Amino acid sequence: MILEYYRPETLEKALLLLSNQTPKTVPLGGGTVLNAPSPEDYAVVDLQALGWDVIEQRGRELRIGATASLQMILDHGAIQPALRKAIQQEAAYNLRQSGTAAGGLVSGGGRSPYLSMMLAMDADLVWQPNDAVVPLGEFLPLRGGLWPGAVISEIRINAQIQAAFHFIARSLADKPVMIGAAARWPSGRTRLVLGGYGKAPITILDGEANQGVLDGAETAYLTAGDQWASAEYRSEMARVLAQRCLEEFE
Ligand SMILES: Cc1cc2nc3c(=O)[nH]c(=O)nc-3n(C[C@H](O)[C@H](O)[C@H](O)COP(=O)(O)OP(=O)(O)OC[C@H]3O[C@@H](n4cnc5c(N)ncnc54)[C@H](O)[C@@H]3O)c2cc1C
Repeated sequence: MILEYYRPETLEKALLLLSNQTPKTVPLGGGTVLNAPSPEDYAVVDLQALGWDVIEQRGRELRIGATASLQMILDHGAIQPALRKAIQQEAAYNLRQSGTAAGGLVSGGGRSPYLSMMLAMDADLVWQPNDAVVPLGEFLPLRGGLWPGAVISEIRINAQIQAAFHFIARSLADKPVMIGAAARWPSGRTRLVLGGYGKAPITILDGEANQGVLDGAETAYLTAGDQWASAEYRSEMARVLAQRCLEEFE
């Protein structure tokens, strides 16, 4: 339950508030997760007055403000069709208006299309204070922790790499049970990410694509069974989606 609510107008005040740990104090983006009933008590620092709801293109780089909504990213002319497709699959229009770029990366689970695609694109998180840049892939295993006095201000992606997104869901609007997301740089570097299960998507490949990747994809989901899909099905579909993604780059 939210015990205290703050809406600072400067970064300095926001960081000071976020350094308070009694009660536990966390950043509030769109609030779609934090406003849900919770047995935990906390204070929230609403980031909406900090002017971070902007998306800026600098050469090849797209700088997405932490509080830009998912719909703002979707509507941006420079994003890859694959990222657009992933965001469309993430949530319906109303939720996309509220959910923020950073909130989705901090709270997204293994079945999150947006998180999977951003991981494949090797998104960088810019943290305040000090503009510390942390790759999303390095941040993911640490998500359960606390960062007193720190906040994500921006997410950076390369808007000119190739990107591919494929998924399987029980119905078109449902959360996927299997996700394939991939990106290819002009150097040939390829990142392949699979999602659809567990706490976070998994990076299967970061390097040069080869035939072994498909075996790796299948193996990674050998025990990924739950109420939504059997492990056998996911494992088989992991190979299929990995192949579909990689074929887009041929
Ligand atoms: C009913 C419902 C069901 C949903 N189901 C799913 C689901 O199953 N899977 C899924 O992936 N998404 C789900 N979502 C989507 C969720 O809305 C999105 O992930 C959304 O983008 C979260 O962003 P937010 O800004 O609303 O997050 P908030 O609720 O504001 O914050 C979520 C988390 O991110 C942290 N955070 C926010 N901004 C920052 C920042 N700048 N720096 C550091 N930390 C930050 C918060 O402290 C909090 O821990 C669901 C939403 C709703 C309402």
